[in-house]
Amino acid sequence: MERSSSSEEREQSIEAFGWAARDSSGYLSPFVFSRRKTGAEEVRVKVLYCGICHSDLHCLKNEWHSSIYPLVPGHEIVGEVSDIGSKVRKFNLGDKVGVGCIVDSRRACESCREDQENYCTKAVATYNGVHHDGTVNYGGYSDHIVVDERYAVKIPHTLPLASAAPLLCAGISVYSPMKYFGLVGPDKHIGIVGLGGLGHIGVRFAKAFGTRVTVVSSTSGKSKDALETLGADGFLVSTDEDQMKGAMGTMDGIIDTVSASHSISPLIGLLKPNGKLVLLGATEKPFDLSAFSLIIGRKSVAGSGIGGMQETQEMIDFAAEHGVKAEIEIISMDYVNTAMDRLAKGDVRYRFVIDIANTLAATRP
Ligand code: NAP
Ligand code: ZN
Repeated sequence: MERSSSSEEREQSIEAFGWAARDSSGYLSPFVFSRRKTGAEEVRVKVLYCGICHSDLHCLKNEWHSSIYPLVPGHEIVGEVSDIGSKVRKFNLGDKVGVGCIVDSRRACESCREDQENYCTKAVATYNGVHHDGTVNYGGYSDHIVVDERYAVKIPHTLPLASAAPLLCAGISVYSPMKYFGLVGPDKHIGIVGLGGLGHIGVRFAKAFGTRVTVVSSTSGKSKDALETLGADGFLVSTDEDQMKGAMGTMDGIIDTVSASHSISPLIGLLKPNGKLVLLGATEKPFDLSAFSLIIGRKSVAGSGIGGMQETQEMIDFAAEHGVKAEIEIISMDYVNTAMDRLAKGDVRYRFVIDIANTLAATRP
């Protein structure tokens, strides 16, 4: 087991334990490090569950060329407040809270004032981000985390905690663009491309909004899940030209969650005039895009990244009210490397969630 010496030497820090990758092999193993003491406006959160997002895998493997090792992933965190600073207003000890992809931002800039901390140019990532004291942040594959109360949300009692965890990233990432781009309601028909962690929650939010939703998947294997378990209205196999042709010009918007390089031209063809293709999948390679595919029909291609803190709370409350939750496979901490291999192969229905509270401590050598 390796120790993080620089942060360990900091005064008044508290020992923490998690799993980290040391290099771009992405292989995770036990890691002792330290967390700062709880600041006046901060809460310390005992991590109960943490979802495994495909972004964790991108980062572990350094696919975005910005990974800082040792890297403790995890930004779909649900936990319990175990300590609060003197100026904390939102939370009490024992509250169930969620922490998502960001833990800080500028706070006074235009984006932050408009509750879009996610678009603040100084937004700080929950892991692989750098705290203002210069230390690197470690994520939720760990026993606890310290966070400013602004960047934590309340989890209503009615939400099952394990299946709520993926809402903190996957949930807000699909909820926010559906609302922003006006893709909600019974008069709208949307496509969701890629039925993975983001995609399947997207179907559930779409149905909760009353929107007609068609899943566009790379194979036919998930059609039963899409139509029966998740309640999608339609299912298209993206490699089936006849099916794709038959659906041309039928969608007001598309939420594209594909995690790998793929062609977007056929997707643009599915849009009605004025339709919007919203890219969420964080693939590094540039897309093929012809101007004519957009000019004819005044279509647009856009991107969207998670959501602001206020909207994240709104999304969680909406999920609790409408019973939106993730389909999960709960795993123990020591299964995480196998889970990553399976996620890379698309072998998960539909989100792995690590049972941190019950299985992490046992992995401590
Ligand atoms: P995931 O669970 O692995 O799902 C991705 C889905 O994409 C797969 O289930 C698969 O769906 C489809 N897919 C994968 N490889 C494909 C290929 N080569 N061609 C066509 N389809 C393919 O991943 P996730 O956690 O949902 O994340 C999806 C992407 O969104 C990742 O890149 C992640 O980093 C990114 N992300 C973005 C945001 C944001 O705010 N923008 C937030 C979180 C994550 P089918 O089997 O149905 O084809
Ligand atoms: Zn994520």
